[in-house]
Amino acid sequence: VARPSRGYAVGVDIGGTKLAAGLVAADGTVVSRTRRETPAHDGVAVMELVVEVARELAGEAGPCAVGVGAAGMIDLDGVVRYAPNVRWADYPLRAELAERLDGPVTVDNDANVAAWGEFRLGAAVDAPESMVMLTVGTGVGGGLVIDGSLVRGASGLAAEFGHMIVQEGGPLCPCGNRGCLEAMASGNAIGRAATAAVQAGRIPDGSPLSGLPEVSGKDVSRAALAGDPAAIRLLAEAGFWLGVGMASLVNALDPQIVVVGGGAMESGDLLLEPARQSLEDRVLGRRYRGLPPVVPARLSDDAGVVGAALLALQQARAP
Ligand SMILES: [Zn+2]
Repeated sequence: VARPSRGYAVGVDIGGTKLAAGLVAADGTVVSRTRRETPAHDGVAVMELVVEVARELAGEAGPCAVGVGAAGMIDLDGVVRYAPNVRWADYPLRAELAERLDGPVTVDNDANVAAWGEFRLGAAVDAPESMVMLTVGTGVGGGLVIDGSLVRGASGLAAEFGHMIVQEGGPLCPCGNRGCLEAMASGNAIGRAATAAVQAGRIPDGSPLSGLPEVSGKDVSRAALAGDPAAIRLLAEAGFWLGVGMASLVNALDPQIVVVGGGAMESGDLLLEPARQSLEDRVLGRRYRGLPPVVPARLSDDAGVVGAALLALQQARAP
C-alpha cells in the first residue's frame, strides 16, 4: 500500500563520523531508519550519500520532503558557509540536493534542527509560543523559537548562543574569541578545566580523576554520577556559567521554556540545578517575575533525524 507522501519526510542527521537518516511520519514516528559512515573528507560524496539514503528511505512513499541537519554555519539558501566536520566551504548543499531529489529540500544547522524537534514533539511540547534551546556537547549550540517559528535571523546565522561572551578575556574558544559560553560550559570546557585542576593538584587522591593525564567531559560526568565531590564541583562550575548565559537569554527573549540537550545532559541535574540557581540569581527583577522552566531535552538520539524531517514537512507546507 502506497503511503501518502505528504505525511512523511526523510530526516538526515550528518555527524562527523556517522550519518543517521529516517523516514519520519508527521507525528514524529520513525517508520524506518538507516546509518552510514560519513565520508567527511569528501563533501561531494556526503551530498551524494544523502541523495542515496533519501531515495532508499522514501521508497514506496514516493517523492517526499527531505530535511538535513549538519553542524556549521548554514545560510538561508542552504549554503554551507563553513562546516567543522565535513569538507564543505561555501557549498550550495540545498541546491545540489534539490537538483537530484524530487521533493522539497530543507538544510539547516544541527542545533536548529534539534530545537525544532524538541519544540514540536519533545521537551517544549507544552510551550506553544517560544523556546530557547542550548545544546551542550563538544561545543554549545543554540536554537530559538519565537511566536511559534524557528528564528534564523537575517542570514540564517541567528541563535549561536554558544558564542555569547560571558567572561571577556576568559578561556579561548574554538571560534577565536575568549570567554564564550562554549569556552566555559561545553563538554570540552569541562574536560579542560578538569585537566587543569588535576595538573594544579586541586583534585584529591581519592577522586577517579586524579592522576589522569587528560580528563574529558565524559570522565567528569561519569565520576560525578558516581558521587565524586571534585567532579560534582567541576560540573557545578560549568552549570554556573550556563546559568549566566541563560540569564542574558531570558532577559533578552523572555521565553516560555529553556531546553538543554546534548551529550553533557547525561549529567542531568548535576549540571542543570547550578544553572537554574545561577539564572535565578542574575535574571532581571526576580522578585517581580516568574522564571521559565529549565528542562532537559527529550528526543535524545533521534532528535536530529526527527527534527530535520519535521522542519522539512513544515517548510513544505509553508506558502
Ligand atoms: Zn566562541
